[in-house]
Amino acid sequence: MRIVLVSDIHSNAVALDAVLAAAPQYDQLWCIGDTIGYGPQPNLCLARMSTLATHALTGNHDLACLGLVSLAQFNPVARTANQWNNEQLEPEMREWLQARPARQDLPDVTLAHASPRDPIWEYILDVETADANLDHFTAPLCIVGHSHVPLIFAHHAEGNEEFRHVESGQSVQLKPTTRYIFNPGSVGQPRDNDPRAAYAVWDTESNTLRLNRVPYDISATQKMIRDAKLPAVLADRLAVGR
Ligand code: ZN
Repeated sequence: MRIVLVSDIHSNAVALDAVLAAAPQYDQLWCIGDTIGYGPQPNLCLARMSTLATHALTGNHDLACLGLVSLAQFNPVARTANQWNNEQLEPEMREWLQARPARQDLPDVTLAHASPRDPIWEYILDVETADANLDHFTAPLCIVGHSHVPLIFAHHAEGNEEFRHVESGQSVQLKPTTRYIFNPGSVGQPRDNDPRAAYAVWDTESNTLRLNRVPYDISATQKMIRDAKLPAVLADRLAVGR
């Protein structure tokens, strides 16, 4: 089975549509959360995920936009954007998003927006945090989002560990005796100094994860951000990918 992995779309439907157009034919699409927040097109992104995704999680920004976690936990820029996203939500889209879990345990893989230990808030950005999370899921693979950085952590049976950034076009061959935590990066607001939209493909037959980057019309999303009077920094950062 070929599974497309998307995360942290953040109301950027221009980036999402570029990913969907570039992605190979797939059997399933999974969304690792934060479909909305920050950007200018929440309903369109939710409409796409509610029809395309077999599994879709909620994230910290999704919950904030729904009013389910306090906006006080976010910086002023994110708070303003999340409040604006909240005001745009169509009732059916709100209802669909409210029903999403922040973590989902499937037979061979755990999905968690942030981390398996704390699916809403914890950032996995170093080997220590990744290692500490191994006790919080049992599957060979855990897929996370949240940091907006494509990363893979590997804990080999011999006990050695690797933690590294994954570049565009790189494939990772998963070994049966190794446990992994993988982040496919962010579709709508990358933060690894590469402004292209990120997504991944998991081929469960060959058991490989491949990271892909897709250029999109950044200026189109920037214009919508400015037209909506959202904080300018949200438009500016898309051009630099951080
Ligand atoms: Zn996010």
